[in-house]
Amino acid sequence: MPKIKTSAIQEWFGRLPGNVGIGNVRYTTSGKCDEKSLIKGTQPVTASRNGLKLAISFNGNVVNTFQLKKEIEKKFRGFSYECDSDLICHKLMIEYLKSKDLISAVKTCMQEVDGAFSVAGITQNGDFFAFKDPHGIRPLCAGHSPDKSTFAFSSETASLDINGFERDFELEPGELVTVSERGFERRQLIKSDRKAFCAFEFAYFARPDSRFDDKYVYEVREEFGRNLARENPSVVRNADMILSVPETGDDSALGVQEASGLRWERASRRHRYVTERAFILLSKDRTLTIDKKINILGSKVKGKRIIVTEDSIVRGDTTKVIVEKLRKMGAKNVYIFVTFPRIIGPCLYGIDMATYGQLIGSKHSTEEIAKTIGADAVCYQSLDGLVKATGFRHDQLCMACITGKYPTPLAQKIADEMKKRFLEGYEETGRLYEIEEAVPKA
Ligand code: SF4
Repeated sequence: MPKIKTSAIQEWFGRLPGNVGIGNVRYTTSGKCDEKSLIKGTQPVTASRNGLKLAISFNGNVVNTFQLKKEIEKKFRGFSYECDSDLICHKLMIEYLKSKDLISAVKTCMQEVDGAFSVAGITQNGDFFAFKDPHGIRPLCAGHSPDKSTFAFSSETASLDINGFERDFELEPGELVTVSERGFERRQLIKSDRKAFCAFEFAYFARPDSRFDDKYVYEVREEFGRNLARENPSVVRNADMILSVPETGDDSALGVQEASGLRWERASRRHRYVTERAFILLSKDRTLTIDKKINILGSKVKGKRIIVTEDSIVRGDTTKVIVEKLRKMGAKNVYIFVTFPRIIGPCLYGIDMATYGQLIGSKHSTEEIAKTIGADAVCYQSLDGLVKATGFRHDQLCMACITGKYPTPLAQKIADEMKKRFLEGYEETGRLYEIEEAVPKA
């Protein structure tokens, strides 16, 4: 991946005109992943026609890719699709051209785009706005600077904190917020039947120092750990110590320690300068990275019965590396405590686990997973425990990848159809929403 020097960014910032800006740290769940495509898909993306202009930055994932692409190609000849941000931006432009009214354009997008989208954008007049899909799957919050001269949107509160901003509110599902010198103006455009905030944000994706509603993600993860200790008393009785997979297993390790009374040994250390997030790398790189990234203090684990806290098991290969390392260093027993329940289906809403084939939990039971990764046992947190710890209700969370119940209709159809085919031996050739034959015709 290309690296940009901080000094180059500062210099570039200094040259930018105007007083409104948007940007995005892209996490790819659509389009190609080669370097050229990633650079081309850099956000914000833009669209313009007849004197109207839009720039948007977006977090989430579009599911009705093919339907939107067809519609856009009719209006924008030569439209090239690099990623789903292009789709949202051009769909919004089509509606904006029709109505000349941003509010009505956003409302139509909310009704006609299937998927997860938290969007920040700017119009040709410098109007600054943000909106969320009707289920509010991905986070997006609003805040202001202490002197109330600057207003901001961010996926996570951590970025408001580190810039000295105060958080005002989390956008509601189906809400559009515009910004003027007077501050935020909030409009509820769509009243959805149900909120479906991504439960995986709590287990892995979000920073622990971010807040959704009023709880820090860190506090939720600690409670995940307490739950795991309470739900698995016989494993706790048979263990000598706790070890965490740094860093997303650290917070739950503290919870396990509190509820079990076992000692949490800080005997797994992360290499400070290997900064890639293993989850988002390709398979071979992922195993190599985790091997280089995590070091274990051998004498601390030798002959010990160890509970290892882990945020989730997606493919199983990274947890397997940890278990192998521990065994090599003489650990007697290795039990894996996993905060996110068994992932059985793909995510179609912006986490890059978009096929059944890549998920160890889609075709293996918990016992089989333990065997495959070489652990004595794998203990997943219960679904009820997870929900209670978040402070949300069942019907306010998306848990599609662990329950098979998707909050949007097209995603449910694609997931059901592809599961059937997968179990019959069909080989998936890419992310499900990008396989044309997987998507029912509109
Ligand atoms: S399917 Fe899973 S990862 Fe995707 S949005 Fe829902 S809970 Fe989050």
